[in-house]
Amino acid sequence: MTHDTTLSRLTEVDLRPLEQRLRGPLLRPGMPAYDSARLLMNRAVTRRPAAIAQVADTQDVVELVRFARNHGLPLGVRSGGHSPAGYGMVDDALIVDLSGMKRITIDPTSRLARVEAGVTSGEFAAVAQPHGLAISTGDTSSVGFGGLVTGGGIGFMVRRYGLAIDNLVAVKVVTASGKLVTASELEHPDLFWAIRGGGGNFGIVTEFTLRLAEVRQIIGGGLVLPANREVIRGYLDYVVDAPDDLTTLAKLMHAPPTPYIPEARFGELVLWILVTWTGSKAEGRRALAPLRALAEPVADAIGLIPYPAMFNYTAHQAIPICHFIRHTFAHQVGDAVIDAALDAVDHASSPFNMVEFRGLGGAMARVAAEATAFAHREKRYLVSGLALWMDETEDATPHRSWIDALWSAIRAEGAGAYVNFLEDEGQERIREAYPSATLARLTEVKRTYDPYNMFRFNQNIIPAVRG
Ligand SMILES: Cc1cc2nc3c(=O)[nH]c(=O)nc-3n(C[C@H](O)[C@H](O)[C@H](O)COP(=O)(O)OP(=O)(O)OC[C@H]3O[C@@H](n4cnc5c(N)ncnc54)[C@H](O)[C@@H]3O)c2cc1C
Repeated sequence: MTHDTTLSRLTEVDLRPLEQRLRGPLLRPGMPAYDSARLLMNRAVTRRPAAIAQVADTQDVVELVRFARNHGLPLGVRSGGHSPAGYGMVDDALIVDLSGMKRITIDPTSRLARVEAGVTSGEFAAVAQPHGLAISTGDTSSVGFGGLVTGGGIGFMVRRYGLAIDNLVAVKVVTASGKLVTASELEHPDLFWAIRGGGGNFGIVTEFTLRLAEVRQIIGGGLVLPANREVIRGYLDYVVDAPDDLTTLAKLMHAPPTPYIPEARFGELVLWILVTWTGSKAEGRRALAPLRALAEPVADAIGLIPYPAMFNYTAHQAIPICHFIRHTFAHQVGDAVIDAALDAVDHASSPFNMVEFRGLGGAMARVAAEATAFAHREKRYLVSGLALWMDETEDATPHRSWIDALWSAIRAEGAGAYVNFLEDEGQERIREAYPSATLARLTEVKRTYDPYNMFRFNQNIIPAVRG
């Protein structure tokens, strides 16, 4: 065993003994499946790992961690492949790819679900729906549970049911020592606390146990309004004080060619509000009225739908694309930010660029900040700028300039970062993701479970130095 921080080169290590122990394939450069396996959601990132292990089960993960530890090898972790930074693949590293681990077990009586890390939001919603059950994960069907849940999970019903981690009961996790442990409020509670928001720093989660909510039909869909300062201000003021049953996510963008937007309005600057109402039908109509009254809608495609149908409204996001993102939590969104967002999208580097406003609060804010490593509980908004383009051979410079200019205009109003939306933005931004007391506690847990920082290709928590 070595704890050497100068790691061995994988090319110098004989991987055959490892390969013989694995049930899933170990892909190396030159093998037919290697190039498709290393593709990520963010096509602006290209990486060439030394080997990608497509694990079949938890035992494969144990074998990989032990092998990497014994040989001092760099180890990356991939589940759904949606990290904006592209952390799911690492140059010259051994990758633990959990995307094939897709078992879902639901007990409708206890409303508990066991979900393997490679399951995506859309896959889970489709399996839970026939039981009349659901969990609030993210807004895009293809995002993986592995990264989403360890980072927090801000979903379509966050104001009603909290973050995904607020419904987490236990995890099975392979720690840096190669041990499989269960973490919950009763077992390894420090690890359980850290995994709820600390990202991939503390081990590889192979299975999540989550408590589901009873969700059958919702009132949901898209309300498309013409975008101007008054409409955005009206939206922002209303959605954070609306009933908890209403969760929204608004995208300031150019109207895309979708079937429910009139063709004549394609390309117009719009505020596209994704709406999820989990209460009664009559109250839903009342709760939505203030949004509908903000302006004559370009399109109103809100109706009674099964929860998984919400993902149809974001199907265009579930395909690989090149992107840059900058984001911030905020207590308030001032007119200067609204004006900067309007100007930026109006002069975008690509027709797909957008600024997203999420209204938070509700159940998410009722959990104590110190209860989980995700601590930005009281923040009312999450604001994100996204530069999006299709062709990975295109020069990214204009998109980088666009996002940088937008960021310099909005960041002053910011109040904290979300690990799941961070690119590789350095330690300063990781410190924004965690209040100082949270970060201090995280570094202690890191020292206990990963003292040599094996899991470091992420929004990295540096282990505390032994006192
Ligand atoms: C189009 C799009 C939409 C999104 N929408 C939302 C949203 O609505 N709400 C939201 O909260 N987030 C959202 N996200 C962000 C998303 O939650 C993060 O990118 C998350 O990390 C993705 O998880 P993944 O498993 O798909 O990613 P991967 O790239 O596979 O993993 C990212 C990192 O997470 C860690 N990780 C992954 N799997 C495991 C595991 N099994 N155990 C331990 N650590 C692990 C590792 O550090 C890994 O490098 C979105 C991202 C995209 C690209």
